[in-house]
Amino acid sequence: MADATGVLVIGQTSAGALDSTAAELLAAGRLVAASLGEELSIALLGDAVDAPAQQAIAHGADKVYSVTNPLLSEYQADLYLAALDSLCREANPRVVLMARTNDGRELAPRLAFRLGVGLAQDCLEVSIDEASKTLLANRPVYGGNAIAVVSCEHTPQIAAIRPKAYEPTEMDQSRQGQVVSFPVDLDASQARTRVVETVREESEGVKLEDARVVVSGGRGLGGPEPFSGLEDLAKLLGGAVGASRAAVDSGWVPSSYQVGLTGKSITPDLYITVAISGASQHMAGCSGAKCIVAINKDADANIFKDARYGVVGDWETVIPALTEAVREL
Ligand code: FAD
Repeated sequence: MADATGVLVIGQTSAGALDSTAAELLAAGRLVAASLGEELSIALLGDAVDAPAQQAIAHGADKVYSVTNPLLSEYQADLYLAALDSLCREANPRVVLMARTNDGRELAPRLAFRLGVGLAQDCLEVSIDEASKTLLANRPVYGGNAIAVVSCEHTPQIAAIRPKAYEPTEMDQSRQGQVVSFPVDLDASQARTRVVETVREESEGVKLEDARVVVSGGRGLGGPEPFSGLEDLAKLLGGAVGASRAAVDSGWVPSSYQVGLTGKSITPDLYITVAISGASQHMAGCSGAKCIVAINKDADANIFKDARYGVVGDWETVIPALTEAVREL
């Protein structure tokens, strides 16, 4: 068999368009492919992926594998896995990049197992050791208290990257790329699970995991009511509201708000924490935030170690004043 070569991004689509996570992976993939001096390709799975294929090329893909089958129109783990398994064996990439979305969390370990290779999970950054052409993946460990650099010996070297860890490159509609049809043979009986019902999370405004600004509240808020003040501030900043597990466990907000090790991983540009102590399990979900602003009445709170800006004070005074100041901007 020929040596493995190139970088393959596993791209997701939604509503007939390239998902933002796929554009982010292409940005990471371009850097890795450039270091290797090899090609960047993307796999798009579905029943028709023509429009997202052109968007992927504009975002930097040299080649698009259009992995089509009517059974792939909706995400189904067993069928997607079977399709990706055959594509990886055929395309023989050196590096595979996947998004650590809910689907990616399910697919990445199963794909790695099928291919008999390792997996670098929950990566914030990937690069290439140019001497050995090995993928180096940076990922938080010990509840976000340290960053481990992980490399996998066997090809394909697979990394699952946190959403928002990379900024998509600007689309360039003049870019040329190749679209390769890769029809797969699938049988509905391969699907060992079926979706009984899809319940869409009702949320007004921007989603927590997509938000550039997040305002999170913790146990120190003392109840559910103060979250409406955080909602007002988040809305003014075009952001979303999150919470610590203590606030979620107290029943003040739904579990979909939870940021942390057992909640969502977010990488906003600005993360404002209000009455959150900064436990390592909370920080594990926000260590990729570009700027953390902490509001806490305890000057010794752990959160101040990670915050770029801190306000030592009572949220009951600070939040109304901050909201007013933002309103006046
Ligand atoms: P606390 O730690 O109680 O902090 C409250 C803070 O509010 C204090 O610092 C206090 O000084 C401040 N405060 C109080 N009153 C005011 C005031 N009036 N004005 C300003 N500040 C005030 N936690 C998560 O968040 N996400 C997770 O995903 C998660 N996963 C976990 C997984 C495991 C396996 C375990 C063991 C724990 C996990 N936890 C998680 C829990 C975590 O360890 C902490 O218990 C939790 O994050 C604490 O939440 P908190 O900061 O809101 O509450």
